[in-house]
Amino acid sequence: MSSKLIFEMSSVGRTGYRFPDIDVPVLPVKDQIKSSLLRESIPSLPEVSEVDIIRHYNSLSKKNFGVDAGFYPLGSCTMKYNPKINEDVGKMSGFTGIHPLQSEESVQGYLEMLYETTKSLCEITGMKWGTLQPFAGAHGEYTGMKLFKAYHKKKGDTKRNIILVPSSAHGTNPSSARISGFKVQEITADERGLVSVENLKEHLSDEVAGIMLTNPNTLGLFEKDIIEIARLVHEAGGLLYYDGANMNAIMGKVRPGDMGFDVIHLNLHKTMSTPHGGGGPGAGPVFVSERLVEFLPTPDIKKDGDNYSFEYNIPNSMGRVSGFFGNMAVLVRAYTYIITMGSDGLQKASEYAVLNANYLKEKLRSNYHLYYDNVCMHEFVLSAKKMKEEFGITALDIAKGLLDYGVHPPTIYFPLIVPEAIMIEPTETESKETLDSFVDAMNEIYKKAKETPEELHEAPVNTAVRRVDEVLAAKQPILKWHPE
Ligand SMILES: *Cc1c(COP(=O)(O)O)cnc(C)c1O
Repeated sequence: MSSKLIFEMSSVGRTGYRFPDIDVPVLPVKDQIKSSLLRESIPSLPEVSEVDIIRHYNSLSKKNFGVDAGFYPLGSCTMKYNPKINEDVGKMSGFTGIHPLQSEESVQGYLEMLYETTKSLCEITGMKWGTLQPFAGAHGEYTGMKLFKAYHKKKGDTKRNIILVPSSAHGTNPSSARISGFKVQEITADERGLVSVENLKEHLSDEVAGIMLTNPNTLGLFEKDIIEIARLVHEAGGLLYYDGANMNAIMGKVRPGDMGFDVIHLNLHKTMSTPHGGGGPGAGPVFVSERLVEFLPTPDIKKDGDNYSFEYNIPNSMGRVSGFFGNMAVLVRAYTYIITMGSDGLQKASEYAVLNANYLKEKLRSNYHLYYDNVCMHEFVLSAKKMKEEFGITALDIAKGLLDYGVHPPTIYFPLIVPEAIMIEPTETESKETLDSFVDAMNEIYKKAKETPEELHEAPVNTAVRRVDEVLAAKQPILKWHPE
């Protein structure tokens, strides 16, 4: 089929639509719009028929690959399957038609939704109260770090300017600590891929403001010593921050609040199902333990009988972190997800997410090297280091090879502590049949790597575009058509 641009399909005078005849007097354009705002020549818009335009958009839509098109092992971290009912509710005019400056009396339903969402998420995380304001995970981390600051400041404990961050943390953790004015010290991982408690002990001091921890960590492993870690940090006068972006693994099973954490952010766009691949939109609400409630951003949402309102008078509040009350479209979807799933549904989702990941891990480990040999949570990390040494095949070749099987490649070269990393997160919604066909594809790729590696270097061969120069595509994207 033609892969012509719509501009190239243009033929002078061809139309796909006719306007009704004008039934009002026609004024010359120059009398209606200032001449400085008028263009000098007619724009070169494509002139095509209706069927041309339908084929154009239809063919574009088929070039896209997403979770609605096929298996997508990037997981909740990039985008898990998002139930369509969330979109229906997100589109309801009662939500989309309101204005942030409307009176509280006229948006009681919206305030109730915010209140109930906060309450449900506190229940899920085991925390006391929270704020829905932050717009992303990293924004939640920033909010959390400012809460740490406010807490130590009120205690007069201003010497505490160090945040400990394990080497297996997400890259946003050290960045958020740094941008909030803290110094960052790295805690090493031990041979299990978990936080080294010994190394942690060496770093604890009266200058440590706290620790930021991702659990399950970016290797997909649950931090087994979490209770001990929480005790040690608290005893040293520090606070604990839980990067809850990986909540998909633990909903209804364990709660960060019960593990002793003081702050957690959730990535609602990940776990609570909002389409967000490619950078947005997001919501990174933050929940806190009792001792940090007084510092939460203003305004808070209050319930008084059946009446909901904003509370602006919070004397020790760290201030605002968003212009209004958060990314409402994402919050509505998250609330819909929570109430349609119910508490047993959320628990099941995590159970299946973990089961599916472990199933794939066990099926793939004979051909692919499992870097940390452990029961995994919602994701696991393979390494193509041996394949690179033996067959000259890299993680990138494997990813490109998968494209020919109609599978979106998993994350590669992350986390950084695993050489030639391939990180796989299948999520809860995939059937055994889909997982098995992914295993077949991976095993065929292994066979190719061993027998005909030159073929894999050429992959993909069945896609509209072959291997692109990713650096050039990112640095000099050509996003506009220019007439000859
Ligand atoms: C995605 C992610 C983040 C950052 O979230 P953003 O919404 O992209 O800012 C932080 N930590 C972990 C573990 C993540 O997976």
